[in-house]
Parts: sequence; C-alpha cells; structure tokens
Amino acid sequence: MALPTPPWTVGLTAALSQALSAGRLPHALLIHEAPGSGGEWLAAWTAQLVLCQERGQAPCGHCTACRRVAARQHPDLHWVSLEDESREIKIDQVRDLAADLALKSHGGGYKVGVITPADALNRFAANALLKTLEEPPGTTLLVLVATQPSRLPATVRSRCQRLRIRAPQRAESLAWLAAAKGEGDWNAALDALGEAPMLLIQGDAAELAEIGADSRRTLDALSAGSADPVTAAERWARAAPAVRLLCFENWLTERIRRAQGSGSQLTEVRSAPYLSAGDTFLNIRELFGLMDGVREMRATIDAPLNKGLALEVLFRQLMPARAGAGEAHG
Ligand SMILES: [Zn+2]
Repeated sequence: MALPTPPWTVGLTAALSQALSAGRLPHALLIHEAPGSGGEWLAAWTAQLVLCQERGQAPCGHCTACRRVAARQHPDLHWVSLEDESREIKIDQVRDLAADLALKSHGGGYKVGVITPADALNRFAANALLKTLEEPPGTTLLVLVATQPSRLPATVRSRCQRLRIRAPQRAESLAWLAAAKGEGDWNAALDALGEAPMLLIQGDAAELAEIGADSRRTLDALSAGSADPVTAAERWARAAPAVRLLCFENWLTERIRRAQGSGSQLTEVRSAPYLSAGDTFLNIRELFGLMDGVREMRATIDAPLNKGLALEVLFRQLMPARAGAGEAHG
C-alpha cells in the first residue's frame, strides 16, 4: 500500500511534475533531506513520475510500472545502496549503474538511477559517478539522496539540481503518521526521536515511545556519571540501535539549542561556559563533536561493525571526565 504524500514535500513534487511536463527535468537531482523526512520516498516517487504508464496522472501509484518501482523491481530503475558487508558505496556499484544506464530502456522512456545514501559514496565511486554526470546517456535521471551532501565532492554537487526536504512541523508529522499508520501516541515517539516521521513508519507508536524514553534515561544517567557505558552500549547494540541513535542525535540537538540559547557563542567555543547543574556538562564544541560521531554511526548502521564498541566510545565522551576516564567496572 502506497504511503500518502508527506505534506512537507508537496512543493517539491509539484515542481518536479511541472519540470517533467515542460521538458525541463534535470538529468541529476540531489535530494538533501533532514533525517527521516523522506528522501528515499521522494526518490522513488520521482522514479514513478517518469516511469508511470498513466500519462497525465503520473505517478498514479497503481500501474505495473509504479508498483514495480515501489518494489524496486522495475527494469529501468537501478537502485544503489549500501551492500551487506560495507559502510561505503563502492566504485563497482557505480560502474554497474553506469553500464546499466547506458543500455536502451525497456519501456522506451527514462532510465533512472538512485544512489542512497549518496554521502556514503567513497572517493573512487564519486569520481566514477562524475563521468556519468558529465555525459548522461540518453534519457537518464540520476537521483542522489543525502542527509549530509557536504560529504560529496563539490564537482558532484555542482552537477546536480538540489532539492531540500526540510524537517516537518510536529502537526504535519502527526497528521501524516495518523493517515499512513493509524492513530497512536505518535507525539511521544516524535518527542523522543525528533521530527523524523519516515523513520517511524515501520514501527509501532507505543513501542517507539518506550524505546525513546528508555534511551533518554540512559543518556541522562551516562552524562551524570551514574551508568556503566559498557552495559549500556551492549544493551543499545542488541535492541533497536538505529532508533536509539536517532534518539541520541535528538537529545544532543536539544542540548546544543539550549547551549546556544544560554548565550554561549559558537565562535568562542573555548570560553563557552559549561552548562548549569541538571544539564550535560559538555560544552558546545564537544556536543557538536559527539553529534558528528552519532551521525557517522547512524549513516552506516546497516554495516556489520561492532556496534557495542562504537557506542561505548560515544558514551565515554558523554561522561564526566572522572567517570569516563577510568576502566569500566566489571
Ligand atoms: Zn503509474
């Protein structure tokens, strides 16, 4: 069953439809999404737009082409993402994509390539992609999805039309989740996880809210020096690590906002005051450093790295110096 169009993407879908009818659709799009705001959804929607068999109402969502795109099984769609054993998208994957795009399209129209997360392209893969971007074969549409496009080489970014999906407002997320998944305590789930409704779509509202609340208790306890980072990391690695990392990112974002609101200047991180009691003791630069670590891990969460160890490293940065420096007690 197709998801309802997220209202916060309506401006983008309208612009893409108009560009296609006017024959002005660019060869390459870079979807810059706020985490969980629907970048892959928009990439699939765009593939349906150009491949749909129902001209005039594309994407209809129910023709064979639209359903094949939704299942990632359309012969004119090549979907590149992280493979089981890797944290990066590799050059061979990009070469396969380029070779496929160079073939004649099955349907006589567009060939579509999607790369997600494009910020996981390694240097060689990004270079290989550049050739396809410079001389796109035939009627080709390349769609890159990234939460951190600054990780892509400027030469790649400059050849793509940028589409920004903003984080939705709370009311928009709630209305959309209710329409897509039915009623539930989505508010509590979003409180814990931030405005990332697309990441909640596969879960259960009550369960997500509980994982969120539990994760926040862990983070509060770690930053107070009253939790063991090894035990906590093992627990997080075992159950719903992706959701918990999102919660971690949201928890950090709140503290960064509070630190900025309290008058700490970003340009004067060295002299930034530590936050008052009851809050994390980290200064704003340390918060940003941790945020990078959390995002890095979240971007590669599907890779089989040692999640427990990676989490433990992040947790130790969160802890007061005295507690974090010592050996973990058995
Ligand atoms: Zn269709």
